[in-house]
Amino acid sequence: MTTEACLYEGKAKRIYETSDKNVYRVAYKDDATAFNGEKKDVLEGKGRLNNEISSLIFSKLHEAGVPNHFVERLSETEQLVKKVDIIPIEVVVRNVAAGSLVKRLGLKRGERFQDPIIEFYYKDDELGDPLINTDHIAYLKIATEEELLTIREIATRVNRVLTFLFKEADLILVDFKLEFGRDEANDVLLADEVSPDTCRLWDEQTGESLDKDLFRFQLGDLNKGYETILTRLGGNQS
Ligand code: UDP
Repeated sequence: MTTEACLYEGKAKRIYETSDKNVYRVAYKDDATAFNGEKKDVLEGKGRLNNEISSLIFSKLHEAGVPNHFVERLSETEQLVKKVDIIPIEVVVRNVAAGSLVKRLGLKRGERFQDPIIEFYYKDDELGDPLINTDHIAYLKIATEEELLTIREIATRVNRVLTFLFKEADLILVDFKLEFGRDEANDVLLADEVSPDTCRLWDEQTGESLDKDLFRFQLGDLNKGYETILTRLGGNQS
């Protein structure tokens, strides 16, 4: 499959067209950004780690019957995905209190929720990705009621599969962000990435962060944390 033009360059990935109009090539970059792009760095090897972890997770989700855009891992830093139109909602699923929620609701960091908390954010950099509810989504016509039900249902299934997968690797899935898209047939699929850039993962024994918080709050070596996650999941080593 020959590679065509770069369609889009984001903070962590580049998306290319391919000779198949329904398939895109995603190349993971080594760039690290946080706080809406205010904090930036290049961490050599990060692209590989996120591509390997994301490929592995999407494959496991396929095995569990969770519809997603992943087609195949192409190389250490690239994967092929189904073309979708991204729905501009960031869906956050939370099992344990951390990050922005601790501040917003005055919770104790580390408090475990009996049932997962699902939140929607409007994907709009200029507005700073504000928290929105289902009425806002309906008013802005971002997604239909039916699509939103599907999104919630898939997000809940992803949480169940990944909580188990990470538990087996002695990791606590604290929270994570998902994005969804519509394919050719207008079906809603899980898209974007699932990686330590978009999840909070804590070591079950020590409570240590192994995710992007290492970079956000200068807690330690980001690549070392991501490598630990990949190794514990039994993924491709360098
Ligand atoms: N998240 C993300 N992209 C964003 C915002 C959040 O991937 O633009 C992820 C983040 O890594 C965490 C979860 O969503 O796993 C919840 O993030 P939170 O709302 O607590 O915001 P943060 O504290 O990261 O600013």
